[in-house]
Amino acid sequence: MPIYEYRCKECGHVFSRLQRVGASSEGVTCPRCGSTEVERLVSTFASSSSGASDTASSAPSCTGFT
Ligand SMILES: [Zn+2]
Repeated sequence: MPIYEYRCKECGHVFSRLQRVGASSEGVTCPRCGSTEVERLVSTFASSSSGASDTASSAPSCTGFT
């Protein structure tokens, strides 16, 4: 089963839930405040491309810092 990430709209807490494929976010509550106002985040695998390029661009500048 895949792990989905959720973010609470009330307190901003981000948490992950193990769910079946196609399962809805209904019934998912925030473990911190118990709010049902949560939104499913985009998969970290899909959004890591932008973050990876940022890390790669900062690496050369680090070596040239000295
Ligand atoms: Zn919350």
